[in-house]
Amino acid sequence: MVRDGAGHGVPSGLRTSPTGRVPQWVLDEAAGRPLAPAPWRAWEPSGQPTRPRGPRRLRRAITLTLLLGLVGTVAVVDPLDRLAGRGAAPASASVPTPGFEAADAPLGTPPPVPVQSGAHAFAAHQADGTSPVAYDPCRPIHYAIRPEHAPAGGDALVHEGFARLSDATGLQFVFDGPTDEWPSGDRAPFQPDRYGDRWAPVLVSWGTESEVPEFVTGIVGQAGSTAMSPPGSPAVFVTGAVDLDAAAFSGMLADEAGAAWARAVVLHELGHLVGLDHVADPGQLLYPTSSTVLDYAPGDLTGLAALGRGECVPEL
Ligand SMILES: [Zn+2]
Repeated sequence: MVRDGAGHGVPSGLRTSPTGRVPQWVLDEAAGRPLAPAPWRAWEPSGQPTRPRGPRRLRRAITLTLLLGLVGTVAVVDPLDRLAGRGAAPASASVPTPGFEAADAPLGTPPPVPVQSGAHAFAAHQADGTSPVAYDPCRPIHYAIRPEHAPAGGDALVHEGFARLSDATGLQFVFDGPTDEWPSGDRAPFQPDRYGDRWAPVLVSWGTESEVPEFVTGIVGQAGSTAMSPPGSPAVFVTGAVDLDAAAFSGMLADEAGAAWARAVVLHELGHLVGLDHVADPGQLLYPTSSTVLDYAPGDLTGLAALGRGECVPEL
């Protein structure tokens, strides 16, 4: 029995990756933790590449970004001022001009789920306590990949994962190309000097064990998103981050069986990215530790379809 930091057991007979590791899922869940209100922080734009942070800090920060968006009563002041037509210059350029690429209707719809299943959980909920926090389906979700340490075939795997995620959610994803941004626990969701007047794209990074020491323990990925909640509107995710263990993926992608594992890890992390939390059912891909499930299962697909029907919030 191999255990990860969250105490999840992995059957000792489970097939390991070509690197000899048992792939273990991300430990980024906020499950079971009280979602204590936290003050909304204005994120100051950073024109400088951020340094990679220690892994514990990175993990905590990713959790924090989720929690930030859960505070439904917290105001994002700048969009409100603009909407009110006051013409007042925002106190800081901490948020972009609202409505970038926002359409009048969702860009896509999730397909019918063949087998509805309640075996799914959401990482964050609206003020009603049941509706999930999701990405705005009325605008495309951009993502960029930091090219450093990318394993052979890795970027193709990421693109394939986003395509699969789009099929399951109806959400539309756009690849922006490589970025010089480094993963950081202090990542600003708005970086106008690097990405222009819009929310920063989802950042996908291939990390090393020196950058993310949790990878030493067998964790091979982590992901999360940042939500914003303007007054009177639902919270929506505006950007996120996916960190993948470059060395582990390089090993997994060395043969066909490992590549199937690698694909499953990416799909699991992308599920987190759009708002899925772990579930206790080992028959789902969002089970917190590795299993024989290599693709989204009925519970995952039911949850993803719900996450594809989020609210459109052009005020952001
Ligand atoms: Zn996970």
